Amino acid sequence: MNSTEQIFKSEIHVHLEATITPDLCRKFAKRNNVNLSEDLFGTKYAYEWDDFYDFIKKYDLITSVIHTPEDYRELTYQYLKDCAASDTIYVEAMVSSTHAKKKGMTYHSFLDGVHEASLQAEKDFGIVSRFIMNGIRHLGPESVQDTAYEVLKNPHPCLVGFGLAGDELHFPPNLFVKTFDMLKEANFPITVHAGEWDGPENIRNAIKLLHPTRLGHGVRSIEDANLVQEIIEQEIILETCPTSNIATKIYDSYENHPVKKLYDAGVKITVNSDDPPFFNATIQGEYDVMSKLGLSNDELRSLTFNSIQSSFCEDQIKEKLLIKLS
Ligand SMILES: [Zn+2]
Repeated sequence: MNSTEQIFKSEIHVHLEATITPDLCRKFAKRNNVNLSEDLFGTKYAYEWDDFYDFIKKYDLITSVIHTPEDYRELTYQYLKDCAASDTIYVEAMVSSTHAKKKGMTYHSFLDGVHEASLQAEKDFGIVSRFIMNGIRHLGPESVQDTAYEVLKNPHPCLVGFGLAGDELHFPPNLFVKTFDMLKEANFPITVHAGEWDGPENIRNAIKLLHPTRLGHGVRSIEDANLVQEIIEQEIILETCPTSNIATKIYDSYENHPVKKLYDAGVKITVNSDDPPFFNATIQGEYDVMSKLGLSNDELRSLTFNSIQSSFCEDQIKEKLLIKLS
């Protein structure tokens, strides 16, 4: 038995569409009449991909089998069921209305599929889940602006925050200022991918220009001691995803990954699976990594505490979940 199995876990950085298992992928492809090349399925990871840009391409192909609110319902339920089996009590997953609409769903129809699964999984397994709408930066500032605008105009009970994902290197924070000012004005919780592919300067810009309380990854802040200090002082939470960063070759090993150094420096970190089957990552696996890097069970529980404490769910839910940890 693994030592982290009994520890309550929480995850706040996972892309829902990317949780699709090969079995579900084949099932959806069949029922939606999508021809998928067998070459897409991999041996090292569940899906075959090369570098980050190939990953984005394959990600689009694999997730193109998700066509209906029923697909979203099944996908969400399966992922939450798997997480609950490893004592995960909370999941905050990112979703993309851009994807859903490309397949002919509406903003409400796909979210209703997700919501139905979320309620059912809570009933069946006790796992609580909420969702973050992602803007996709490489689709450009207007697309992100439209996505955010729709979210603010159409509140949904399972939707608790807004995120910025996609190609960080070619679409820097300054392009999205207008959208994130609007979200801040509306008091809508914000998380931004930063410091995964790009370094300290863009992390600083993301913090200064986009008002996030959490950063997706943020691990390259380690390259600038002053920035690490600023992150600690501003109590910005890092949604770290060590296995993802190793799969995409940002770091070559867990020992050389900065997650432990950031933890030791006093940064409030969380651990997360990001795009699970693409990297053979699981939330259980990320806790196991931290255990192997030397965190005690109490320290592992502090990661769950950070995760729930910084989540965007309602205060009374947060309190209930935190009581479970005490
Ligand atoms: Zn991510």
